[in-house]
Amino acid sequence: MIKQLIFILFISAGIFFGCESSKKPVDQSAGRNSKKAITVPSFNSDSAYYFIQKQVDFGPRVPNTDAHIVCGEYLVNQLKSYNAIVTVQKFSEQAYNGTMLHFKNIIATYNPKARKRVLLAAHWDTRPYADKDVEGRYEPIDGANDGGSGVGVLLEIARILSKNEKPNAGIDIILFDGEDYGEHEDVENTPLKNNLVKIWWCLGSQYWSKNPHIPKYSAYYGILLDMVGASNARFFKEGGSMQFAPKVAQKVWATARSLGYSNYFINTNSPGIMDDHIFVNRDAKIPMIDIVEYDPDSPTYYFGDYHHTRKDNMSIIDKQTLQAVGETVLYTIYYE
Ligand SMILES: [Zn+2]
Repeated sequence: MIKQLIFILFISAGIFFGCESSKKPVDQSAGRNSKKAITVPSFNSDSAYYFIQKQVDFGPRVPNTDAHIVCGEYLVNQLKSYNAIVTVQKFSEQAYNGTMLHFKNIIATYNPKARKRVLLAAHWDTRPYADKDVEGRYEPIDGANDGGSGVGVLLEIARILSKNEKPNAGIDIILFDGEDYGEHEDVENTPLKNNLVKIWWCLGSQYWSKNPHIPKYSAYYGILLDMVGASNARFFKEGGSMQFAPKVAQKVWATARSLGYSNYFINTNSPGIMDDHIFVNRDAKIPMIDIVEYDPDSPTYYFGDYHHTRKDNMSIIDKQTLQAVGETVLYTIYYE
């Protein structure tokens, strides 16, 4: 995922993101105690951690590599083993550097007949370059957090759904491909002939949002997970989420608060960023938030210092963070 480009995209769309901070108290009634007793199964962060380790063990999941192919097969098989209806959406597209890339969006469906649906998503590809490192800036990264963590949490949720009574809402899990193949830091974005700037990031979500796996597919709302596994991560209410889906953000942050996770889910806004949720909102018209780590003190803007470096490996993954995010998402969907 990348910062800043959001402004390019939305200047042309005539939308501008405010980034005022919200000081309003969270409505606690939206939490777990407000409705009739619902049994929410427990989220197992050991299991989520294991799923991240499995992905990392394949090697960097860079499109057009063997690790990408084998990991994609693993994800499909895992989701099938958790009794999901699995759809693999294959497509090919050119990258910014002209390479033809072969992608797979992997979609798992639970309770297909439910009209009210919640969409959960993460990206399963990893950045081909450690372009924020000082050395080895054309080497790929493990992407334990950037990519791996969101997928790990969603695989654990799939496992839970297969073993327990399901929530009333239908759940769709989409693992987007091609999120992180944007331009190397050394390369300038090149405007196309019509002067529009092509967004080379988020290729899987851009494709799916215009070509959903089921024609006219929609969902009540969506939650995107990106970089949700680092130690002491903080999740602010991100600008794009607040622009498109403020009620969803309020609901999720209130749930986190009711579970005692206000130290992870900070009740303040952060600037908007380019991530998969932008296309799901803009093109698929599904209100989707992004739970994404924001470091207000970051020396390189927005993300932790591991971002797009080889530091993004298993050593930064923390089960407590996975627990906070996983439990919050699980309570949110079971109370829907
Ligand atoms: Zn990234």
